[in-house]
Amino acid sequence: MKVSIWHNNKDIKIEETPTPKPGPKEMLVKVHSCGICGSDIVEWYRLPRAPLVQGHEIGAEVVEVGQSIKNYRPGDRVMIAPKVPCLKCSYCKNGHYPACSNVKERLPGGFAQYILVPEVLVEKGTYRLPDSISYDQSTFIEPLACVVRAQHLAGIKQGQTVLVMGCGMSGLLHLKLAKTKKCTIIATDINKTRLEFAKKIGADTVIDASENVPERLTAEIGRKADVVVLNTSALSAIDQAWKCVDKGGCLVFFAVPGPDKPVTIPINILWTQEIKVLTSYYCGPPDITEAIKLLEAGTIEVDDLVTHRLPLEDIEKGFRLVIEGQESIKVIIRPHEG
Ligand SMILES: [Zn+2]
Ligand SMILES: [Zn+2]
Repeated sequence: MKVSIWHNNKDIKIEETPTPKPGPKEMLVKVHSCGICGSDIVEWYRLPRAPLVQGHEIGAEVVEVGQSIKNYRPGDRVMIAPKVPCLKCSYCKNGHYPACSNVKERLPGGFAQYILVPEVLVEKGTYRLPDSISYDQSTFIEPLACVVRAQHLAGIKQGQTVLVMGCGMSGLLHLKLAKTKKCTIIATDINKTRLEFAKKIGADTVIDASENVPERLTAEIGRKADVVVLNTSALSAIDQAWKCVDKGGCLVFFAVPGPDKPVTIPINILWTQEIKVLTSYYCGPPDITEAIKLLEAGTIEVDDLVTHRLPLEDIEKGFRLVIEGQESIKVIIRPHEG
């Protein structure tokens, strides 16, 4: 089978390896679609584990199951989480699944033609795809689950004003989800095409991020936002973000700058205005279940976000498209095509 080995964003090699045989409690799945995530291109985050097979937004078909597996059989359509929390440690018990300290095994990456699914992920990390969710759509389950989690943590309520900073795939999913809660949405980006798209899919107001966003925000809506979601690692956006949160509101770091770029928090201002600063990282099992429901019911539509479908051989191009972020929103790799 073909598999792509990521060394860094400019060096991704396609290699031929034997297709693995599942052990008694493992299964082999055929990857139909795998999305390139915004976090896949973040080298400071990924390089410590390189070289590796990337890809964690997976839509796959079961092709072979170990003899002890009763729940799945060849032909089943599934999505598989990249890792599963233990549900037993104190972090899990408090709902902080992404911080679970007992994660031992990860799913091998999905930028490959097949994946050998380890026992723990067969048991707890595999989700059956409803018929109405295509393989391409299923690549949005994991990113949407992360968005569901962030909005839950931020306590976004019906009718609130939400400022979405950065209109890449995550920002647009935030926009779509907040829209289902009848929020007023303001979106920012430096890319004009993305802003137009944000407007088309429901942003009430869009602001070019190169302008003075706090000023434009208050000019447009007469106040600041209840919730600000940062979907960009740009320090300039963070500088603007503090000034865009209304009293009692919150700022969510959905994306963060690299570790070599410290952020100074204006704590005194935030303190007297009871402004919360939150981080949201990854997702947990309840978020995945919720994301599947949202896609199954068609509450969140994602087809309009897919700009590129590429064969595995073109994965370097796919990464380049995501890094440049000019003409792409969602890039999906289809390892059995081309
Ligand atoms: Zn992701
Ligand atoms: Zn745990």
